[in-house]
Amino acid sequence: MKENVIILGSTGSIGVNTLEVISIHLNKFRVFALAVNSSVENLSIQCQKYNPKYAHVKKEEDAKKLISILKKLNIKTEVLYGIKSLNQLVSLDEVDIVVCAISGSAGLESSISAVKSGKKILLANKESLVMCGSLFMDLAKKNKASILPVDSEHNALHQCFASNKEKFIKKIILTASGGPFLNTNIKEFANITLEQALNHPTWDMGKKITIDSATMMNKGLEIIEAMHLFDLTLGQIDAIIHPQSLIHSMVCYEDGSIISQVSMNDMKIPISYCLGWPERIKSGVDLIDLTKQPPLEFSDVSKEKFPCFYLAKEVAIEGESFSTAMNAANELAVSAFLEKRIKFNDIYKILSEVLMSHKKTKLSSVEEVFAIDEISRNITIEILKKYN
Ligand code: MG
Repeated sequence: MKENVIILGSTGSIGVNTLEVISIHLNKFRVFALAVNSSVENLSIQCQKYNPKYAHVKKEEDAKKLISILKKLNIKTEVLYGIKSLNQLVSLDEVDIVVCAISGSAGLESSISAVKSGKKILLANKESLVMCGSLFMDLAKKNKASILPVDSEHNALHQCFASNKEKFIKKIILTASGGPFLNTNIKEFANITLEQALNHPTWDMGKKITIDSATMMNKGLEIIEAMHLFDLTLGQIDAIIHPQSLIHSMVCYEDGSIISQVSMNDMKIPISYCLGWPERIKSGVDLIDLTKQPPLEFSDVSKEKFPCFYLAKEVAIEGESFSTAMNAANELAVSAFLEKRIKFNDIYKILSEVLMSHKKTKLSSVEEVFAIDEISRNITIEILKKYN
């Protein structure tokens, strides 16, 4: 029996890589449904190739466009739109695997639906854990959903844990490439351009996460992600810079052993690990030739250059409403930087200011999470006005 897969965010980089892996295993997996925000053209090409039962877009007007394209191509895929129908789609009995690859807070609601319906979830949306990790993991436990992390570092950790589960751990170490500004002089940070920030040395990703990698906020978010995913305290998680991005993370055990996962930096590897889990399936990526690699280097994260990383660590201690607020502020600050409305160094200043005015709140429902998200967005919008 083939497993039915639904990909939320199928035209993004994780979605595209997932479809490439599935293409190697069409005897095992069926593309059941594809969902995107608004990339109608690309979605229609994917429908042509994979013939899913359903295709989903956010808005009605895009659904109409897609329907007319598919009609001309004589493709029978049923087109749906709106968040309600997306949540229903995810919960259908026929769905076995949900790939949550919508980036940002926009992906939270559908990943919550996937957890509530107890699916096997390939989680690439780290915001689900940053915004409401405890609630999310509780729902997963209650509904027997398996959460398989696609984020390369957490995926590496999942692989490292395979032999010893999560027992006898001293700590885990997330690796970070250090982004494009690892070796940039601190004096030049004030003049960093958007083009420089978008030029990531080792990973090819979406714009938002590429900027998060340049500020190293991404690593901060990943620490919070790991705390929830593996039920660890902040003290049990380190992050170190490893510019070659070949070791994707490590687990340190009480006996002094360190287990690491090493592979090419290609997202098809974590994706195929999650798709096939608990088996291993081909990813289409070659083994790494270690004799041809540069020397592996490791260093600490500079506090001066990457204050966003340390801010996220402080937020991790404060807990959930703080991480929800920081995530909201960061999404807006990064999009302002992408629109060239603020400078690179302003991202940190804006986040600090938003967090300064945040009042710690206990989050006991998804509605409360969205309320904090909205309040924090409004505060950020006000602060951003000073920069225009
Ligand atoms: Mg990552």
